[in-house]
Amino acid sequence: MDSAPDRTLSTTNVGADLRVCPLPDAETQLVGVLGYPVRHSLSPVMHNAAFRHLGLNWVYLAFEVPPPSLPDALRGMRALGIRGLNLTIPHKEAAVPLMDTLTPDAQAIGAVNTLYWHQWQLVGDNTDAAGFLRALQAAGWQPGGQVLVLGAGGSARAVVYALKKAGCRVAIANRTLARAQLLQQAFGTEQVLPLESQALRPLMPTVQLVVNCTSLGMEPASDAMPPVPLDALPRDAWVCDLVYRPVQTRLLQTAHQLGLRTVDGLGMLVHQGALAFEHWTGQPAPIEVMEQAIR
Ligand code: NAP
Repeated sequence: MDSAPDRTLSTTNVGADLRVCPLPDAETQLVGVLGYPVRHSLSPVMHNAAFRHLGLNWVYLAFEVPPPSLPDALRGMRALGIRGLNLTIPHKEAAVPLMDTLTPDAQAIGAVNTLYWHQWQLVGDNTDAAGFLRALQAAGWQPGGQVLVLGAGGSARAVVYALKKAGCRVAIANRTLARAQLLQQAFGTEQVLPLESQALRPLMPTVQLVVNCTSLGMEPASDAMPPVPLDALPRDAWVCDLVYRPVQTRLLQTAHQLGLRTVDGLGMLVHQGALAFEHWTGQPAPIEVMEQAIR
């Protein structure tokens, strides 16, 4: 008697030997990430660990898509029945007009990082904002109070939107003041400051959370850190760095030495991915498995 292929091996743990995992077959569901470049992405490791853990016959791949090819790539997604996608730099804003519909978060932020199907409509969502808040709350931070956001680029947009929605007072400090002013107009933040230590010092004793949304401290320039006087923060303040290469940035190391509470960039990466996973599969994401896979 023929026996059905044994898929039980797919419930192996993170770090399992790939040779004992089943190969994709005709029923495998495909999801992935589009970016340019994308070969550095941790998302395939994180999502494939989650699929294996739950025994789901799904696979997550990374696709290097140059900016002019994005419309073709999304037509390909529709034609091939790809179940969902993440978008990363430089596609998050360019994809907005290519969606059938946007979630309120994606609409407000003006960028999409997660695509999924709902009643044959391609939905563009932005899980960066909710993922950022969930990561902080998972670490023990309570929403509210004065926050200082460093940076005014793409990630700062999602972070500022999330913090305002959570009821925080937000000051934005950026090297290019005009970009911070644009964010202030978009989300009604309380204050805009130059990214300079002396300019920030008077605000620091009122700040409960500092979030680094600049790329300062990212490899290969991991000796750099934003010019922020952490020593003037209250003792119970939090410091969160979105940079996750390296995980322990110089900013986080300095905060840790001062006895401040810290949240690293992998937390947001895991939680934005977990929300995407739940859109695609309809199942709760195994967050610990995903986090263990990328740490
Ligand atoms: P982005 O849109 O390019 O914005 C970069 C920001 O950094 C801008 O505010 C820019 O200031 C500032 N900046 C760059 N170089 C600087 C310098 N030498 N001195 C002072 N300011 C400088 O980048 P992004 O997409 O927001 O990403 C920022 C960081 O967050 C990256 O390291 C990225 O990997 C990380 N990130 C992490 C997650 C996560 O899940 N953990 C998610 C998204 C992004 P100007 O406006 O003056 O140019």
